[in-house]
Amino acid sequence: CSINGILLLLLFCAVHKLMQSQSFFTVAMVDFWSEPRRALLPIDVHVSGEHIQAAKAFLELNGLSYSVLIEDLQVLLEEEKREMIASRTEERNTRIFSYAIYHTVEEIFAWMDTFVASNAGLVSKMQIGTSYENRPLYVLKFSTGGNNRPANWINFGIHSREWIGPATGLWFANKLASEYGKDPSVTSLLDKMDIYLELVTNPDGYYFTHNENRMWRKTRAKYSGNLCIGVDPNRNFDANFAGPGASSNSCSETYHGPSVNSEKEVKAIVDFVKGHGNFKVFIDMHSYSQLLLFPYGYTSTKAKDHDELNALSKVSTTALRSLYGTPYVYGPILTTIYQSSGSSIDWAYDSGIKYAFCFELRDTGRYGFLLPAKQIIPTAEETYLGLMKILEHARDNPY
Ligand SMILES: [Zn+2]
Repeated sequence: CSINGILLLLLFCAVHKLMQSQSFFTVAMVDFWSEPRRALLPIDVHVSGEHIQAAKAFLELNGLSYSVLIEDLQVLLEEEKREMIASRTEERNTRIFSYAIYHTVEEIFAWMDTFVASNAGLVSKMQIGTSYENRPLYVLKFSTGGNNRPANWINFGIHSREWIGPATGLWFANKLASEYGKDPSVTSLLDKMDIYLELVTNPDGYYFTHNENRMWRKTRAKYSGNLCIGVDPNRNFDANFAGPGASSNSCSETYHGPSVNSEKEVKAIVDFVKGHGNFKVFIDMHSYSQLLLFPYGYTSTKAKDHDELNALSKVSTTALRSLYGTPYVYGPILTTIYQSSGSSIDWAYDSGIKYAFCFELRDTGRYGFLLPAKQIIPTAEETYLGLMKILEHARDNPY
């Protein structure tokens, strides 16, 4: 695909202007990198080269101010590609898996087998389903024994272009395995609770970002009668499905799909989590924006555990920030960013999992989805601190 001459615009708008621009942009098929959100908050929009002039004219006509965040996306894409080739050559030569680079789905699946083999007794691999294109949906289970212990769920990369998610997940898996028996907090956590990690939650989309279109977000499901391919899996869960904040247009990046759980990737999570019955934590890892979000997205009604979730978010983001000073904003999805229906954490919360969170990892738009690989380890390290606060809280506050 040729995506030469792409600009990213930063908009500041009032709500009615935003709605106007949304309809304009939908027609012009621009891609919202950060989704339309509350009044007066900036949003990032990716405009293809051929639509630049029309987009600028529209913004100026409507008195919407903007600035260019990334002048030419193609330059960043090529840089990322060059970096990946060089770092993989080095990885192959040294025969040491590098957590500091981005990997393909094939490489991640190969790593899993080595990882499980070298951590037998602690880590096992499960398959919870298959994707639309028949790729396995693998989950790594960390358990020190017991029967159906209280458990923590964390999935990464449900939106495939958010590469920092799976990369953070790999590092986190390795960190847990290497700290068990050494770090008292990890040890006591795993002595009481199990941890399940789905590192590549949308493998078809992830494969597509490596081979066809780096900016692909959705699944790759095809439905007859739909103009476009793919469904936004994070609008496909049973939480006010097809309500405000999800699109019925198959070409939209937030298309909710033909029915609840239509996506095999979503259905697999729902069946597994429900079937297990003892999940206490459900975390969905996304990027970017540096946010820690909790329910609800579909209603402005406060979650019944709002005060506890809010306090825990403060503790978590404070710990995260303590390492490199990365600031995070936290709060319910709807009042913090935008209304969204059918999201994973709203579904998890309504299914009885109290500690339901969504992280939007680095950055805030300087690189967006094209976060340089040299930021993988720092992102993973700081996220680990925030994540552990949530897991420890669940361990210490059984319900
Ligand atoms: Zn996302």
